[in-house]
Amino acid sequence: MTATSSSAYGSAEDVDVLIVGGGIVGLSLASALGGRCRVALVEAEPSLAYHTSSRSAQQLIPSYGPAPVKELTRRTLAALADAADVGPDGARRLIWPSRFMLVGSRAAVEAESHEGMRALTRDEARELLPALKPEAFEAAALDTDSVRVDADALLAYHEHRAQAAGVGIHVGAPVHTAQRVGEGWLVGAGAEGFHATNVVNAAGAWADDLAILFGVERLGLQPYRRTAALVSLAEPLAPDAPMVAAADDTWYFRPDPAGALVSPSEAEPSLAEDAVPRPGDIEAALELIRTVADLKVTGIVRAWTGLRTSPQDGLPVMGFDPEAPGFFWLAGQGGYGFQTSSALAEDAAAQLLTGPEALRSGAGPVSETARAFDPHRLSVRS
Ligand SMILES: Cc1cc2nc3c(=O)[nH]c(=O)nc-3n(C[C@H](O)[C@H](O)[C@H](O)COP(=O)(O)OP(=O)(O)OC[C@H]3O[C@@H](n4cnc5c(N)ncnc54)[C@H](O)[C@@H]3O)c2cc1C
Repeated sequence: MTATSSSAYGSAEDVDVLIVGGGIVGLSLASALGGRCRVALVEAEPSLAYHTSSRSAQQLIPSYGPAPVKELTRRTLAALADAADVGPDGARRLIWPSRFMLVGSRAAVEAESHEGMRALTRDEARELLPALKPEAFEAAALDTDSVRVDADALLAYHEHRAQAAGVGIHVGAPVHTAQRVGEGWLVGAGAEGFHATNVVNAAGAWADDLAILFGVERLGLQPYRRTAALVSLAEPLAPDAPMVAAADDTWYFRPDPAGALVSPSEAEPSLAEDAVPRPGDIEAALELIRTVADLKVTGIVRAWTGLRTSPQDGLPVMGFDPEAPGFFWLAGQGGYGFQTSSALAEDAAAQLLTGPEALRSGAGPVSETARAFDPHRLSVRS
């Protein structure tokens, strides 16, 4: 039975942890924490994962990102390897092998191909993807450990795990008011009220805005636009062809049942908003892709834009706020949200269950990598 206390909202539900944000980050935490304490999740939109989490390229690339991100990716892949979402239509697998290839000038490929990638000759690259134009690139490198993720299935997996463990998930419930009451927070979200010992900020592009609503100083989390599209092709790519990206980060594409998924790989600062593509974005990416690969594009099926949000140093932010007791940051996962969330959620759950001192004292089940994400490191307050 749910405990309640009286408040300005009539009756407020008492929870140990209130998660704000129903994207992959908030849902992963709800799934990790469910059954271990009293948890509720609130999402502003009428459905879960309406924003960035429904707009990704659905690829998990172990060689992508700085070392602490790679560590999270490795742990996320291990956690998801044998997992499946079981729904009314049976079990859906979450991840499967899907190679990732970089192409470009020798210098750019060398600079971007990290540990875990294998250098390829141009002939080897063309064997994997015959559409590549051999005269258009000098070098290539391959990540064979990369996997595709079914983003919908992974979101459903975490949602179902959370619900089965008793987490209350409330959609159409934007947090609009927050005040400090005793040891915790009194929070209004849509028509609901919560009395929460801890509030987790998993609000994606709105993470800094949410902090301000709680009277907490922001951390300088910046949303960046990224656009992608599904295009139809006159000649389909092999379904097992690798995802290919320009080593200078100006485009990528990969096979898709619709034809191909393409992106101009832009990272343009934006306000937190429901972002939409701009005219010409996809056409410009296709122009560049055509110089390197002979993709016979017949039309744009659907295009979308999402916001990838990061702090200045490009690493996620996870941990208790340095100054606001019971306010916990879980945001800034940038372009790595799907490859990091499952592992990062386990670390966040460990910290929430052991309290704010665990990280700094070195006590408790907090991974070494998790220390790299401590919000204390961000300079915006100093
Ligand atoms: C084009 C593109 C390609 C990408 N490709 C990949 C990829 O291949 N692999 C990968 O790992 N990552 C990829 N990413 C990044 C990944 O999608 C993100 O890192 C991830 O989705 C971020 O999840 P989130 O939960 O933080 O944000 P969101 O999904 O945006 O969720 C935050 C939620 O908080 C809610 N919210 C905000 N304010 C409030 C409030 N006051 N009250 C209640 N709710 C609130 C919002 O409505 C939103 O639903 C890609 C991103 C883009 C745009």
